[in-house]
Amino acid sequence: LGPAARLYTEEDPLVILSSSSLTPTVTNSSSAWLLQFYSSWCGHCIQYSSTWKSLALDVKDWQQAIHLSVLDCAQEENLDACKDYGIKFYPTFKYFRAHSPPTDKGTTCRGGDRTVQFMRQLMVDILQNHTQMDRPDHCPALEPVSSVELLPVLGQRSDHYTAIVVEEPESYVGREVILDLLQFSGVEVKRALSSDRPLLDALKVTAFPSVYLLHPNGTHANLHVEKRLRFFFSSLLRTLPGVQRRPKSDSSSSSVGQKVALPHGQSSEPWRNFDRSKVYTADLESALHYLLRVELAAHTSLEGDELKVFKDLVTVVTKLYPGGGSVAKLMETLSDWLLSLPLQRIPYQAVLDLVDNKMRISGVFLGAEVRWVGCQGSRAGLRGYPCSLWTLFHVLTVQHDAMPTALDNTGLEGEAAPVLQVMRRYIRTFFGCEECGRHFEQAAAASMDRVQNREQQILWLWNQHNMVNNRLTGSLSDDPLFPKAPWPSPSLCASCHEEENGVHVWNQNRILSFLRHHYGASNLSPHYSL
Ligand code: FAD
Repeated sequence: LGPAARLYTEEDPLVILSSSSLTPTVTNSSSAWLLQFYSSWCGHCIQYSSTWKSLALDVKDWQQAIHLSVLDCAQEENLDACKDYGIKFYPTFKYFRAHSPPTDKGTTCRGGDRTVQFMRQLMVDILQNHTQMDRPDHCPALEPVSSVELLPVLGQRSDHYTAIVVEEPESYVGREVILDLLQFSGVEVKRALSSDRPLLDALKVTAFPSVYLLHPNGTHANLHVEKRLRFFFSSLLRTLPGVQRRPKSDSSSSSVGQKVALPHGQSSEPWRNFDRSKVYTADLESALHYLLRVELAAHTSLEGDELKVFKDLVTVVTKLYPGGGSVAKLMETLSDWLLSLPLQRIPYQAVLDLVDNKMRISGVFLGAEVRWVGCQGSRAGLRGYPCSLWTLFHVLTVQHDAMPTALDNTGLEGEAAPVLQVMRRYIRTFFGCEECGRHFEQAAAASMDRVQNREQQILWLWNQHNMVNNRLTGSLSDDPLFPKAPWPSPSLCASCHEEENGVHVWNQNRILSFLRHHYGASNLSPHYSL
């Protein structure tokens, strides 16, 4: 079977096993394993693959304790292995406990509705089906702790937070939150039961599940959440000050920070305090500055398709840029100049001269240097330009929705999603991180054509941005001070998050309203802008 027939790819956050890797991987392992033996010709397996992928995404951060994997029994080279493990029907689910011997053929899991929630809870049960001695190396205790252990530590100072999930005995939320935080340092999560009266009395917890937080300085209080859902608890704990994702030792993801050299050592600049619920014109201006003066400079001249892509980008920015002021005027001048030129080829130096000249005549348009605010990184090479480019395009999609006729008579009005198409062409042609461009192009080719209107244009970019960053969590380009996480977080938009059958889902209507507000002209802050 060719790659097209494969149900799972390297992009999915699970391990694809083969006959040769199966036994050495799942036995004598420091983690437990849950395996799906499937067949790529089995209709049910094809349908079920979307559930298994959702599960893999949902428990991505549990991998040190339990891995999710697949093996395709329809591949000829896997036939012997499937026979050896006694697989007769597809899909068959088997689990392997941590540190199991090479002779272990795994335990078959039967029954259940095999939904994401059922399988996730099964994974918790598998982890609990270990003894103290053979537990996965990185799996913390999942059993409840009692008031006898907890009350004495109340008020004590520590070098980390302790979060206690107080819940009803049959609830899985506490164990899921413990596992969600497995890859994070600076917080330890425990669970306690609602039947523990002395604990409830001492902490004054009356609703379940609740998270009670012991701060490093010895103070303690209930953690306020808008919704008592696993996603809310885990997200809030991950963003506590000082809580950080442990960096992966090796990263297979490309790191844009290494590929796009940033022009200035950001670390030497003073820190600019900012509000995460705002968008800063300084970031948008810096994006344009970097784009015009650094990214474009890699091209000695612009001609043919490149020139067309550049012209379209300038047109879209000119027509939709909401910041106003000198940057808008500069882009307008650039746009008029580009449109008036009969040339098929423009030397890059001519673009630079125009930008510089305009700056000289009428004062400073674009900062003489980049000035990141909402896109500041904790050190040079992190965040900065790529962050500002996403921000710029989100703003442009929202502006296009607010001003539907703005692109009339530009030649772009016929496209269903002109901002996305221009972004796609710009990224493909000019974005310095080649691998990022390749990934983005793949995603665009797969689904951008389905975007029919301006609302879908906003949502497509939001969704794609989350998909990219989901792939990058824990990679080298992940700034420990700004760890990548599904966006907007519950603290930015609580109503954007819901749970359906125990699985986190986005409320698309709320997301759309939130994005319209967040990237709208009225939420732009001129603070730090020149
Ligand atoms: P960013 O992801 O840059 O986000 C910037 C800001 O946008 C955030 O601070 C937040 O306020 C907001 N935001 C976050 N998520 C969303 C969302 N879903 N919708 C709307 N707003 C949001 N890096 C790689 O290493 N590999 C790649 O393949 C790769 N591909 C990229 C493709 C494109 C088109 C771009 C522009 C960048 C790509 N990058 C890639 C860079 C990467 O996505 C980040 O931009 C970079 O790592 C900086 O991350 P950040 O934490 O500053 O946040």
